[in-house]
Amino acid sequence: MIRLEGVTKRYRSAAGERVALDNVTLSVAQGQVFGVVGRSGAGKSTLIRTINRLETPDAGRIFVGDEEITALKPAALRAARRRIGMIFQHFNLLNARTIAQNVAFPLKLEGRPAAEVDRRVADLLARLGLADHAAKYPAQLSGGQKQRVGIARALACKPRVLLCDEATSALDPETTDEILTLLDQLNRELDLTVVLITHQMEVVRRVCDRVAVLQDGRLVEEGTTADVFLHP
Ligand code: ADP
Ligand code: ADP
Repeated sequence: MIRLEGVTKRYRSAAGERVALDNVTLSVAQGQVFGVVGRSGAGKSTLIRTINRLETPDAGRIFVGDEEITALKPAALRAARRRIGMIFQHFNLLNARTIAQNVAFPLKLEGRPAAEVDRRVADLLARLGLADHAAKYPAQLSGGQKQRVGIARALACKPRVLLCDEATSALDPETTDEILTLLDQLNRELDLTVVLITHQMEVVRRVCDRVAVLQDGRLVEEGTTADVFLHP
């Protein structure tokens, strides 16, 4: 479902050049929950952000489904991104809009008719246990509820892939568990391919089928979660 071939990304700044990803090749099969771990600065965030081309690699190719993400022109890239959901550590909700409006946002961008948007939003809020919160604003919700809104918004356009950027790092252990249970359930029910980056090993052990370890931008290990954790 996802393939990176020789992906390299450098950042240039006044301080010089930094190789954030160094010739990374990896594949994620459809329906997997795939974890990416590594220390702070290892390149995890850069890796996940290249998959929907929030960052453009300097070298290498990235495929999602049968599309080469690295070859898409802007209009095609915008369309492809709607099929790649993303959730964030700090949720990135629109604070001046209601929960329902947040979830409706990507559907409106896609130009969906109002009746379909309403139906889809109601469906997503129900699925994520947010039906009673539709008219509230993000500030009125708990962290776990905000992340569920983030997930509902990410799923609005029925993506095949969900990217999770430290999605549970701002949550307490109990709420983390609740969100992981939800991701696990969505993975199974929707055959959603999930890529998650985290510095929390217990998150990986709990939900990931496979895991990749990044160190200084290089992929140093990749395998089943059991293998990677049994042979440290
Ligand atoms: P991680 O998510 O594993 O903490 P990142 O992908 O955020 O790692 O960062 C990898 C490396 O790239 C780090 O050395 C970081 O300082 C550098 N880096 C990340 N983003 C930028 C940026 N926008 N400009 C310059 N350097 C960056
Ligand atoms: P539909 O005819 O609505 O496309 P599907 O068989 O695709 O039906 O999906 C069944 C249910 O699951 C519907 O309520 C649909 O909205 C929901 N659904 C399907 N795929 C996704 C997805 N990737 N993300 C969120 N919800 C989904």
